[in-house]
This record gives sequence, C-alpha cells and structure tokens, in this order.
Amino acid sequence: MRLSLVDLPAHDIPAPSANQSPASIRVTAVQTYLACPRRYRLQYIDGLHGQTSPAAALGTCVHRAVEVLHAGAPLDDAVATLRAQWASHRIDDPVALEDLLAAEREWLPWYDQWRQGQRDIAVEEGFSVPLPGLDWHLVGHIDRIYLQDGRIVISDIKSGRTRPDVRRDLQLSLYSWLFRQSSDQQDDYQEVVHLRTRKAVRTARTDDYLERVIEQVVAPVVEAIDAGIFPANPDSRYGCGYCDLSQYCTIGGESNE
Ligand code: SF4
Repeated sequence: MRLSLVDLPAHDIPAPSANQSPASIRVTAVQTYLACPRRYRLQYIDGLHGQTSPAAALGTCVHRAVEVLHAGAPLDDAVATLRAQWASHRIDDPVALEDLLAAEREWLPWYDQWRQGQRDIAVEEGFSVPLPGLDWHLVGHIDRIYLQDGRIVISDIKSGRTRPDVRRDLQLSLYSWLFRQSSDQQDDYQEVVHLRTRKAVRTARTDDYLERVIEQVVAPVVEAIDAGIFPANPDSRYGCGYCDLSQYCTIGGESNE
C-alpha cells in the first residue's frame, strides 16, 4: 500500500526514551548503530549528549543557511543566518573560522548558482515508513527533492572534510527507499552535494538494491536493538577519538552489558 508523504517538522522527530522500546529509528541512528552500537545506546536510549565539536557546529550552521536558500530567500539572508548561527555557538576555533569564511564566500554562493534551472519538489521533507515485518518505522528528512530535465533527484547536502562515497552511501539508499515507499513517483537519481569541494555526485539505485539494504542492513540493526545488543566498536571508521560520548564509555571491558 502506498503511503502519503508525512510532513514532520525538521527538529521534532520523537527520539526513543529510556526503558521504552523505540517505535521509530532515524536514518542517522541506523548509521550510528552500524558505526558503534554502544554509542547508539548512549545517545538514543540513555539520552546522553556530548559536547558539540567546532566542525559539527559549523556543519549545523551551514545547513541552517542552506535551509534559508531552500525557503526561497536571497543569498544575503543565508549568509546572515550563517553568521548569526555561528555567533550563537560562541566557538573560537581557527580552523572552523576559516571554514566559516569559505562557506560565506564560496560554498553558499556556488550552491545558490548551481541550483538554477532545477525545480524543487520538496525541501526539508520528513518521511516515516513502516519497516516490512517489523514493529518499527524508519524516519528520515531529505534535504531536497528536485526535478531537472524531467528527472527526479534526491539531494543530500554535506559540508564535512570527508569526501562522500556516493556509491556506498547508506543515507542516500534509505532516503530513496523512504521516498519510493511514500510516493507514487520514483526518483531517478540520488546525489550528494558536497559544498566544500563544490561538487554534486549522482548515483542510481534499483528497487532490488534498496530492498536488500532494508533486509540485510536495517532489519538486522532493529532486531539487534530489540534484543538489547550494544557492543562497543572502538574500531569504527572514525574511531573513538571522534566520539563525543567517549567520556561515558569504558572501552575494552565486557562490551555487551
Ligand atoms: S568511545 Fe568508542 S567504543 Fe565507546 S561509544 Fe564511542 S565510539 Fe563506541
């Protein structure tokens, strides 16, 4: 059965609380569990928060500025939002400050120009779709869905230092699955727009591929969470050095308490 689009406010997705089995899991939470199940538990079940790093704060500020462009406001308004958001963080970090200036002078102007000729279908759209055979919903927000030359593109905006590997990007797969399950239309491409390098890279997922991602990646994650399996994974891609919850984690002991 096809569902209609569910319009969830961008910052109002219910997070699972302690002692309560969550009924929904965000796309980003699936990624967190895959990187380190213990980190998932600390963040989404124990409800702990770490200190926001300068890089993460900058990423959030840039995203807010992009949202202003998506809302149809001029570039000057987006830059003003970027500055105001950054000022509210009160972070003094020379590397992040350099990135902030690059975002003002290069990233946002490029993105504003690059979007010309594209027609928005939806921006900052929330989706919530039941996972087949499971008592859970997969929830995600897609930065932008647009039409260009008769093709529908799902677009994810990133600004981090890591160059995204679009071919293996789980977020893109899950956003595409959410869209296809929620709409009578089908996306043709999925893309990452990397503001830092001013590049947009596309890929094309098949239905069969997406179904396998749900069956072989998402369903096992949800089943493991239901079973209370949260081992520590200090060998994740970025390692514990980048984990903002490391002060709550004892590594090296029994990992599945
Ligand atoms: S410190 Fe390492 S093992 Fe512990 S939660 Fe963070 S990433 Fe996982």
